[in-house]
Amino acid sequence: MSWHVLGAGSLGCLWAARLARAGVPVQLILRDSARLDAYQRAGGLTLVEQGQARHYPVPGQTAADPAPIQRLLLACKAYDVESAIAAVKPRLAPGAELVLLQNGLGSQEAVAARVPQARCILASSTEGAFRDGAAPDGEWRVVFAGHGHTWLGDPLDDHPPAWLADLERSGIPHQWSPDILSRLWRKLALNCAINPLTVLYACRNGGLSEHRAEVATLCAELGQLLHSCGQPAAAQDLYADVQRVIQATAANYSSMHQDVAQGRRTEIAYLLGHACAAAQHHGLALPLLAALHERLVQHLDACGLPSH
Ligand code: NAP
Repeated sequence: MSWHVLGAGSLGCLWAARLARAGVPVQLILRDSARLDAYQRAGGLTLVEQGQARHYPVPGQTAADPAPIQRLLLACKAYDVESAIAAVKPRLAPGAELVLLQNGLGSQEAVAARVPQARCILASSTEGAFRDGAAPDGEWRVVFAGHGHTWLGDPLDDHPPAWLADLERSGIPHQWSPDILSRLWRKLALNCAINPLTVLYACRNGGLSEHRAEVATLCAELGQLLHSCGQPAAAQDLYADVQRVIQATAANYSSMHQDVAQGRRTEIAYLLGHACAAAQHHGLALPLLAALHERLVQHLDACGLPSH
């Protein structure tokens, strides 16, 4: 049974290459026929791992292909998932399974509402990859920059799917996680405490050690939010964890900082935006978080980037 990977970007190519090299059947779904033509001219994708580039002629198609889809890895950005899933919905076979790789929260619920017939498995990954824009085939050349781990889980059904064996075979480090929502909330809280401030102070993660009081208050508000959302485990020792991440990644620019610096749309609506919407939903006043959101929205507006 073939995997379909929708979104031939950083993570989509990283997954597709590893499945293909293990002999697991996989197909890439590209945005439209112009993108498919360009992909086919490149003859497939290239994965660069530890400085070694290897080419994988993974077959490509568009959403218009008629073949049914049983197993779909959704690897586009959170703000693209709704239109992406709408395009392939008619192809989903009965009992289809979807793996949702998006960062943040909100997009997963939107997908599940659009395809109630499918099983939606949520993922949270610490792997890192980026497209090598400098190379001639940069669009389809992905650099595996950070080895990590992927947690997968289904809040509605804690039975692990049989295809986890494909991931094992492909050397994709993973774990079935009955508390996937807690993981996604914790990651969202870490993101909210670090990434927006690195954009507003134009600094590396380590620069936030000069703003300890602000980070501490944000963590206290995020902790209140996590409790109100029924995620007390995700709130445990949040401030200490945020400090640990700031120190461990002091020399790095956060993903949101990199997106803004390169003029790319951020996933704000599914991170800080989602946190503020959840606080409002629970009637919770979190003044620092709300002010941070407002400052970030103004900053993105000033940069000419979408702020929702
Ligand atoms: P990316 O490099 O921007 O790739 C997204 C891909 O989706 C692009 O190739 C885009 O096509 C494609 N796409 C969008 N709409 C589509 C559609 N309707 N049909 C077909 N393809 C479509 O993004 P990414 O970095 O892999 O991130 C994907 C998700 O994983 C995000 O939520 C991100 O936060 C999360 N994540 C990423 C990393 C990482 O290291 N990259 C790590 C952890 C989590 P075009 O090229 O045509 O625009």
